Amino acid sequence: MKKIDQWGLEVFEVNQLTNGRPLTCVTYMILQKRNFLETFKIPVPTLLRYIGTVEKHYRKENYYHNNIHAADVAQSVHVLLSSPVLSSVFTDLEILAAIFAGAIHDVNHPGLNNQFLIQTMSELAIIYNDVSVLENHHLAMAFKLLQNDGCDIFANLSKKERQSLRKMVIDMVLATDMSKHMSLLADLRTMVEAHKFSKGISLSINNYSDRIKILQCCVHCADLSNPTKPLHLYKEWVKRVLEECWCQGDKERNLGLAVSPMMDRHSVSVEKSQVGFIDFIVQPLWETWADLVYPDANKILDALQENRDYFNSKILTSPSME
Ligand code: AMP
Ligand code: ZN
Repeated sequence: MKKIDQWGLEVFEVNQLTNGRPLTCVTYMILQKRNFLETFKIPVPTLLRYIGTVEKHYRKENYYHNNIHAADVAQSVHVLLSSPVLSSVFTDLEILAAIFAGAIHDVNHPGLNNQFLIQTMSELAIIYNDVSVLENHHLAMAFKLLQNDGCDIFANLSKKERQSLRKMVIDMVLATDMSKHMSLLADLRTMVEAHKFSKGISLSINNYSDRIKILQCCVHCADLSNPTKPLHLYKEWVKRVLEECWCQGDKERNLGLAVSPMMDRHSVSVEKSQVGFIDFIVQPLWETWADLVYPDANKILDALQENRDYFNSKILTSPSME
């Protein structure tokens, strides 16, 4: 836990050492370190009860979308918002909202994606009319759990603060829907271009739409950060994310549906999947984020490049290519 402020926390070890409660442990430590329990008058028992309840509602049987991923995203948001360029840009309420969004952003994930839920006319797809089905579900769940007895960690915020926090959390979690990735990235790029003249100087952003865009990108980057982590952690995430995808692929096959790309355990190359994911999704996003906070994320970009080289070299030497 000495690495709580660093990129590359040993989150799987934290999971073991806390007996399967990494989310509670990480969230508590971050809020404590930032002095938010005092600032927002959050009683420790209330925090532990709420975040423990959220943690229980993550499904342990999921290989990837579980409480370890939630702890990883919350901690990654915490580190990204500690970037020197962003210091004094965001208010404590905005930072609290972003860390909270990271912690709850996949709660009760069923291990199946939006497309599958929509195609099979699942109950969730019906409730949310096929629109950002999972993301709406995670948000509704997280805000519903706040209403459990002794769980309202925001009880001592003013009405205005509560409303503002709720709006920001909703905006951030809805932006984790991968179908929003391209437009979010385009918006961030436009903003980075506009701010280029202030490179190296602390950013100053005055309007809600720009501030929330950066916070949305921060949570989205944290959500797509496993390829930027130390290789041993990244490899563990790859094993988990692909196994979960492949279980969905098995379900699709059994239902007689077309098996989604990346989800067929009999045809997907692990290495190629990662080089493709990095080249088309992760690298463009992280390059833009690194531009925004230049030079604070340069080491993260270097790690991403090294990890890409590792998987790419394995493609070049795989037997099928010889
Ligand atoms: P979320 O479901 O909110 O965690 O969104 C992240 C998306 O990125 C999901 O669709 C994941 O399947 C995908 N993803 C994350 N890490 C990887 C990875 N290493 N390889 C391929 N897809 C990934
Ligand atoms: Zn996620």
